[in-house]
This record gives sequence, C-alpha cells and structure tokens, in this order.
Amino acid sequence: MSSLEALYQDILLDHHRSPRNFGELEAPQMKAEGFNPMCGDRVCVQLNLENEKIVPRFKAEGCSICLASASMMTEEIEGLRCEEALEKIAEMRDFMQGGEKNLEGDLSALSGVKRFPVRIKCALLPWTTLKEALDAKT
Ligand code: ZN
Repeated sequence: MSSLEALYQDILLDHHRSPRNFGELEAPQMKAEGFNPMCGDRVCVQLNLENEKIVPRFKAEGCSICLASASMMTEEIEGLRCEEALEKIAEMRDFMQGGEKNLEGDLSALSGVKRFPVRIKCALLPWTTLKEALDAKT
C-alpha cells in the first residue's frame, strides 16, 4: 500500500469512527431516506435552513464507505445554500462516475472507491439521499 493510500485509509477510518453531524434534528424542514439493496446501507438525511444556510444531520447503518461518505458530505454542505449543495452533489456524481476532475479535501479519500464499482453505490447513497431531501423542499 502506498503512503497516499494509507492516508486515504486514515481519513475514511476517522470519519467512520467519529462521524460528523451524526444524529437527528428536532424539527427537520427537509428529510429523506435512502437504501442500497446491494450492500444493505441505509441513510437518513435531515436538513434545516438557518438564514438560508444548511444545517445537516444524518444517520446511517451500513458499510464504512457509506458512513464515511455521509459524514464527509455533511461537513461539505454545512453552511451552504441549497443551490450550492446541489452543485456539490453533481460534482460528487461526476467524480464517482469517472469524471476527470478530482475532489478536494477529505472527499478525495473516496477516489480509491472508484476502483470497486459495487462500492460506488455505497459512496453515492448519502448524496442521492441528500438530493431527494433538497428536491422535496422545492
Ligand atoms: Zn455499502
């Protein structure tokens, strides 16, 4: 394993061990649930808007890729406006589906997942669930 892969592994493990924004909101303005039958992953995304900025929470049961991706996602979209979050979703989709553009920050740790087509669904599930939550609002 190269040192770069080891680093990515550390980032994924860190999000898996201490997921960010894990839990539930008291009265979520937007929410959606997603399920990946291939792996058994379940994700619940809840969102509130405060001054038009997103406050995210999530719950997930499933594999470490799904959980880490969900945790990174909430970090990524926290404080963004809805339309900015939709752009992030599109970028993530392109990235996982073989786009040229690399992602920055912790999300780049998911680049290794692209080598395993089955796991791409795991990584994308939180993002498609987020999109459902955002779409349900408008
Ligand atoms: Zn999975």
